[in-house]
Amino acid sequence: MTLRNSLVWFRRDLRTDDHAALHHALLSSHRVFGVFVFDTDILAGLPPDDRRVQFIHASLAELDARLRSMGGYLIVRHGRAADDIPRLAAELDAESVFANHDYEPQAIRRDRAVLDALRRAGRSLQTFKDQVVFERDEVLTKTGGPFSVFTPYKNAWLKRLAAEPHAVDAWETAAHAGALAPAPAGHALPTLEDLGFCAPATPLPAAGMAGAEQLLDAFLERMARYDHERDYPALDATSRLSLHLRFGTLSVRRLVRLVRARIDAGQGGPGAPVWLSELIWREFYMMILARHPRVVTDNFKPAFDALAWDEGENADALFAAWCEGRTGYPLVDAAMLQLNRTGFMHNRLRMVTASFLTKDLGIDWRRGEAYFARKLDDYELSSNNGGWQWAASTGCDAQPWFRIFNPVTQSKRFDPDGTFIREWLPALEKLDKAAIHAPWLAKGAALDKAGVVLGRDYPLPVVDHEQARARTLARFKRLKAD
Ligand code: FAD
Repeated sequence: MTLRNSLVWFRRDLRTDDHAALHHALLSSHRVFGVFVFDTDILAGLPPDDRRVQFIHASLAELDARLRSMGGYLIVRHGRAADDIPRLAAELDAESVFANHDYEPQAIRRDRAVLDALRRAGRSLQTFKDQVVFERDEVLTKTGGPFSVFTPYKNAWLKRLAAEPHAVDAWETAAHAGALAPAPAGHALPTLEDLGFCAPATPLPAAGMAGAEQLLDAFLERMARYDHERDYPALDATSRLSLHLRFGTLSVRRLVRLVRARIDAGQGGPGAPVWLSELIWREFYMMILARHPRVVTDNFKPAFDALAWDEGENADALFAAWCEGRTGYPLVDAAMLQLNRTGFMHNRLRMVTASFLTKDLGIDWRRGEAYFARKLDDYELSSNNGGWQWAASTGCDAQPWFRIFNPVTQSKRFDPDGTFIREWLPALEKLDKAAIHAPWLAKGAALDKAGVVLGRDYPLPVVDHEQARARTLARFKRLKAD
């Protein structure tokens, strides 16, 4: 039976093509409306110049324009989604609301509330898999449980895709666009100011489907080299698509189709399968979050619950130094400045800075995770939590606790000439590459020549790595003994 009116609720899928909920709504309804809600439950805790709000706002302008070019338009509301969606469904007399699955605990609670309210009014909520290729219960161990180690998960994921290649087929929308309801006269989207926000001080990456397309085009040129270049933060080697995957301005199915086509045609080089693995890591952590929502607050491995992280005034001072990029370890500081100023941090540096906070400064991963959540444009609960618990050794398939990154060795290995450090720490610009990774070990003459006075132009290290390492090993060993 064809529905009279239906409403597509866009959330983290801000695109018109290859969109499961939009496809299903168009196919099953006479008239289809689209809505996005700036949810005050989410916006409440954000600063007025939050970069994600600006990105979403710009992406919605594009989404509205694209829907208009297909004959429709986008309704934008500002309020509690749990109230606004049922209210709008009633106003439009929509029999059903269509949306794509969201796996975050707070979103699941919100969706339940919306479902209940719609049901009470005799309407329905239909949801679809869209933001992943395989979701929480689709890739399981032989005994039917969830994986907790990545490599067997990845192998099972690839096996399932080989058996079910249609899992990455596109959900057609344009061919059925005739059902889109046209915009009423005078339709306009709210401005950022209407929402109580303002433009951020530093420019944002290009938003919307067009922004994603530009990045993808550029990345396809360098994908073949991804395997050996991706670890060097001074190189523009990775895709930078995380922000677009977060807000769904491009479809993950499309990326998997593209990369597989290259691999099958022998054109992906050694980089393509490695990049595909990263997309699978994203799904691995989403599966972990969906299956173990307690990881939001707790260690994945309860055995680590008794770990005694440092607290108090000294820990607070060290945490502030880490946040502000003044630990005295140049690679760590340059990374934190990149994050603070641009809303992005390279993956290798996320690992280095997270390891430094937990293993060198002895500070609880949850504090670092919360800081990243505030600062990262691409903040994704599942990957951020997974990454932090990996670095802290408390997570699934995590870095073993006795393997502790040496921040100077990491610096020499992954920024050998100090190019990345110089970009973010101009005070060290003139130091040669022998001195730049650990300026406190440099000869006085090298510092003089570069015009650097430690403690004035750049801080002395806030901790000694070897001592910190010994303290961390003792912290974890104590736990083992207990
Ligand atoms: P590419 O190298 O081009 O990878 C392609 C895509 O694969 C990424 O866009 C991302 O969606 C996915 N991906 C890559 N690496 C990982 C990974 N290790 N785990 C999960 N997915 C991955 N990623 C986020 O998207 N949001 C976060 O909040 C986030 N927080 C992190 C925190 C820590 C402590 C660590 C160690 C990693 C975190 N990551 C996070 C994963 C990774 O650092 C970023 O996805 C990556 O740096 C984004 O850059 P890119 O798009 O150029 O990635």
